Amino acid sequence: MTEISGQIVRPGAVVPGTLEVDGPTILSVSAKGRAGDDIIVPGFIDLHCHGGGGHTFTKGDPAQARAAAEFHLRHGTTTMLASLVSSPYELMREATAAYLPLVADGVIAGLHFEGPYLSAVRCGAQNPAFLRDPSVEELTALIKLGAGAIRMVTIAPELPGALEAVGLLAAAGVVAALGHTDATYEQVLAGVAAGATVGTHVFNGMRPPHHREPGPVVALLDSPSIVCELVADGIHLHDGMLRFAAHAAGPDRSALITDAMDAAGMPDGQYELGGQEVVVADRVARLVRGGSIAGSTLTMDAAFRQAVGAGLGLPTVSAMASTTPARALGLDDQVGALEAGLRADLVVLSPDLRVKRVMRAGAWI
Ligand SMILES: [Zn+2]
Ligand SMILES: [Zn+2]
Repeated sequence: MTEISGQIVRPGAVVPGTLEVDGPTILSVSAKGRAGDDIIVPGFIDLHCHGGGGHTFTKGDPAQARAAAEFHLRHGTTTMLASLVSSPYELMREATAAYLPLVADGVIAGLHFEGPYLSAVRCGAQNPAFLRDPSVEELTALIKLGAGAIRMVTIAPELPGALEAVGLLAAAGVVAALGHTDATYEQVLAGVAAGATVGTHVFNGMRPPHHREPGPVVALLDSPSIVCELVADGIHLHDGMLRFAAHAAGPDRSALITDAMDAAGMPDGQYELGGQEVVVADRVARLVRGGSIAGSTLTMDAAFRQAVGAGLGLPTVSAMASTTPARALGLDDQVGALEAGLRADLVVLSPDLRVKRVMRAGAWI
């Protein structure tokens, strides 16, 4: 039995007290004991991450994927998806097969395909050479090959066949996410009606809002069934926009993501993403061709600090970093909150929100 005392961040409140851990599970959370000023939050859950610590998820290399997950675990991420970028079908198959053992080991919760079924107009740092229309045949084969390991696919809803693909994913229990899209407001709502439940890095890689054509941003923020991913690095989103989005969607529908690339935690310099050159300068990653922002160099603890610094309260930010993404993945009966019976995944933060210790399944890492 392990006891951890501090300011325990629970849904809707911060409670000074003690958390008891028995084996891999939270046994109890109570207001007893001397709490101290450490802040205890549920382990972070990152729905969208391409790599970190110099290691990438985008090449289908299981050794690199393990190292990337390990890097983010040290920053408090106890559950994560491994995100690919737009890729040839063969690489999507190879990565799915290569990552199956990592999913079985719990190193990653599954795969996220960000593309290739995305808009060429809003492709951002996605390699335009690999973009194509949604393919029900490809998705059906990948879902079969993945045997539950494929957890999310991002699709632009205005593409031919997109709504059928969204419906197929939803029926198979795979999260259909809408993003990298030039869709109208109505086209996004059609994607939501077809079964999409996540908005991929809302605001980024999509037609900007206009008061006479609200577009994807407003459609996603205002759809009750959509969880909106937000990249809180102060670069992808102005803090005022982050705060506005979190207020518009509410903590139950806002999820912090890193969208990190392998350069996260690494020095400035030359990198590569999905077959394109990237330069990182002052922690901002940009494509050499055209200068699009190419993912982030975030970790979830840094996103957490940025969101608190933007004026969002601790329970709100903790919901956005853990509880809401857990629910988006259908894992909220296992992880995502400091509640008795859930897996003992937690992060001990100093009062200035630096990571002190990380526990995963009851074991300190
Ligand atoms: Zn993207
Ligand atoms: Zn991404």
